Amino acid sequence: MNLILLGPPGAGKGTQARFLVERFGLLQLSTGDMLRSAAAAGTEIGLKAKETIDRGDLVTDDLVVGIVSDRLDEPDVKGGIIFDGFPRTLGQADALDEMLVEKGMELTAVVELRCDDEIIIERIAGRYSCGNCGEGYHRSFKKPEKEGVCDKCGKSEMQQRDDDNVEAFRTRLLNYYKDTAPLIGYYHAKRSLSPVDGTADIDEVTKQINAVITA
Ligand code: AMP
Repeated sequence: MNLILLGPPGAGKGTQARFLVERFGLLQLSTGDMLRSAAAAGTEIGLKAKETIDRGDLVTDDLVVGIVSDRLDEPDVKGGIIFDGFPRTLGQADALDEMLVEKGMELTAVVELRCDDEIIIERIAGRYSCGNCGEGYHRSFKKPEKEGVCDKCGKSEMQQRDDDNVEAFRTRLLNYYKDTAPLIGYYHAKRSLSPVDGTADIDEVTKQINAVITA
């Protein structure tokens, strides 16, 4: 099973991807995570991308398609993938179609997480995560049992993303509507789009996604 999670920043793609990893043993392919890791490791690609990411702009299609293509050559992708944050432009969607054919893979569904801008802004402003294991938290909706300590790995390394600030967020939202929202029409026309209500609470969204992929 290979899925795309599509939706604006803050719609819950990362959160839902993690559930899908646990429930179906899929591999989460988050281009945002890959780029952030590359930046933290100080690789050439990472350093090139860091400024763009922090501004809230998209990195080039060539760069991101290159890292996805390399990742799809690893053996662990055979058990199924969740594309989280990729594709983000029509150019990337075309490139993904070609890559999937080339690598003998098929797309099972494109799940669109529909969300209002106001809800997204509230979510983004309060979110943070564990710097050690990546578990996501929120100041209002999902607090750890002990403040500052990760429920999952027990470390006290909470952090907020550099691009989760109002300025960068506005740019990310604008880029979403300009570059990524056209993918909704694209996948709808290809009959692979399944919209779910991304404003519902986390468990309900998970239920709706399960219903799509087990239908
Ligand atoms: P995300 O973690 O998916 O919100 O991505 C964080 C940032 O990484 C984005 O704002 C972009 O700067 C960059 N990025 C991630 N995925 C892509 C992509 N598919 N195309 C272009 N830029 C991306």
